[in-house]
Amino acid sequence: MEEVEAQKTDILIIGCGIAGASAALEAAKSGLKVTIITKNDKLEESNTFYAQGGIVSLGPGDAPDLLKEDIIQTGDGINNMEAVEILSKEGSKMVNSILLDELEIPFMRSSPDTLDYAQEGGHSRRRILHIRDTTGRTIEETFVSALKGFSNVTLLPSHTAVDLLTVPHHAKDPKYYYRNPRCIGCYVLDNKTNKVKTIFSNYTILATGGCGAVFLYTSNPKGAIGNGYAMAYRAGARIVNMEYIQFHPTSLFHRDADGFLISETVRGEGARLKTKDGQTFMDKYSEQKDLAPRDEVTRAIYEEMTNSNSNYVYLDLASFAKIDIKKRFPHIYKTCLKYGIDITKESIPVVPAAHYCCGGVLVDGWGRSSLNGLYAVGEVSCTGVHGANRLASTSLLEGLVWGTRSARHIAAHFNPVLEQGPIDIHQWYYPEKEEETDPALINQDWISIRSTMWNYAGIIRTPKRLARARADLDYLHHRIEKFYKEARMDTNVVGLKHGIHVALLIAYAALGNPVSRGSHYIKS
Ligand SMILES: Cc1cc2nc3c(=O)[nH]c(=O)nc-3n(C[C@H](O)[C@H](O)[C@H](O)COP(=O)(O)OP(=O)(O)OC[C@H]3O[C@@H](n4cnc5c(N)ncnc54)[C@H](O)[C@@H]3O)c2cc1C
Repeated sequence: MEEVEAQKTDILIIGCGIAGASAALEAAKSGLKVTIITKNDKLEESNTFYAQGGIVSLGPGDAPDLLKEDIIQTGDGINNMEAVEILSKEGSKMVNSILLDELEIPFMRSSPDTLDYAQEGGHSRRRILHIRDTTGRTIEETFVSALKGFSNVTLLPSHTAVDLLTVPHHAKDPKYYYRNPRCIGCYVLDNKTNKVKTIFSNYTILATGGCGAVFLYTSNPKGAIGNGYAMAYRAGARIVNMEYIQFHPTSLFHRDADGFLISETVRGEGARLKTKDGQTFMDKYSEQKDLAPRDEVTRAIYEEMTNSNSNYVYLDLASFAKIDIKKRFPHIYKTCLKYGIDITKESIPVVPAAHYCCGGVLVDGWGRSSLNGLYAVGEVSCTGVHGANRLASTSLLEGLVWGTRSARHIAAHFNPVLEQGPIDIHQWYYPEKEEETDPALINQDWISIRSTMWNYAGIIRTPKRLARARADLDYLHHRIEKFYKEARMDTNVVGLKHGIHVALLIAYAALGNPVSRGSHYIKS
């Protein structure tokens, strides 16, 4: 197949959610040449777009040390203190300077001069800024529109990262083996032509988001299959804490709702969980009752569902709300109504769903991974802020803080490594006789991955279930690798290869950690 000309950029950013977009905005301001790719046709499509509840700041009478305490309490004490310190101290400053002053995000106000702060589980006070229940959508759209105003930013939708380019691994010249490994860009599939381009970059920032969609039931959009964890792992970067998968307690239980999330701020406004026969139950499980951290609420629901042989529990907002439900939660109200549930009058059937990955590519306070030239920011990274479990509404903030800090660090220490001479690398290899992909095969492999992860590596894990997950996934991995080598490249084939690697990373990490902590719960 004919070769596609290689491209060069100062910073390649893979992913355009809040983390990638924050990094791009900061880098653009420094004058560096920035290229952002996203595998979706629409630049805004990301987990960020669907975030409902809001972003943590500091509310009235609040202080960084109080936020720190809540983060550590929820994270079960294994948080990286340096990272928690950065988030607690710098977070609200960046919310003010970037989101409020620079981008003028219209967060809700109780009066023209007073911001409205919401409450969520695990928080000791109200400190979450929001735009009703569609906070992520407004933030994401504002970032994308700001980025379009920079002439040094190239935005490439419909481009899927396939593999990180590293020397010595991809270099043709054997003398590169004597050098320290470095990331120098990425092989990128143009989804429209199905050809693989080479994009060389002095620095690469991975901002590919989370992996909720490797589980059967998830609050994440279907594209959240953890591409970045798989690519970083294959490139040799350190990955940690992948067993800590957070399950959100309340996604809408409905055949067609696709895991639609019922935000935790709904419980923050008084809603209570009830069994199918109308009994509240969280008092039995936690002093914080319905506002306990997510892992505790999720396990309580699981227990109640098991005891009553039921597929769901109820979330009752109608009987307890002191707010105007339609005004405060217009998106949740309208979506539930579409499925025949009027949340101003009746309880919402809910079920837990895979939501957030607390682990990922290990990075320092500037987003630097263990591989030279590679930074990771947002959900794909593990800064250690969340420890074993994430405090609600801290992930948008983590994306903003580390996205911005990574670009500042690159700009301050910029080393144009690509100018040291061309690096002769292997071109993408296309098999001589490519096989047309059969969508039925890809769908079936995904069903196997997702149901294995849900049933054997889900909310309640046991060593036997995990061992079975590992065996089944190992076998599937072998089949998928063979298929990948022969199949015609397209974004779905690439996604499947990334997906099986991510499922294995989670299953192996869970099997290797016999201690229940935070969101990793293992029953012996
Ligand atoms: C329904 C829902 C509600 C949530 N509510 C909140 C909330 O209220 N507050 C909060 O703090 N957090 C919330 N979260 C979590 C939060 O939204 C995410 O953790 C956060 O948005 C992640 O941001 P990110 O920039 O790291 O990744 P994302 O926003 O997921 O962006 C990932 C980007 O990477 C791109 N990408 C992925 N793979 C590739 C590839 N191979 N090639 C090219 N591009 C690729 C995607 O297209 C996308 O542009 C919620 C999550 C969900 C799903």
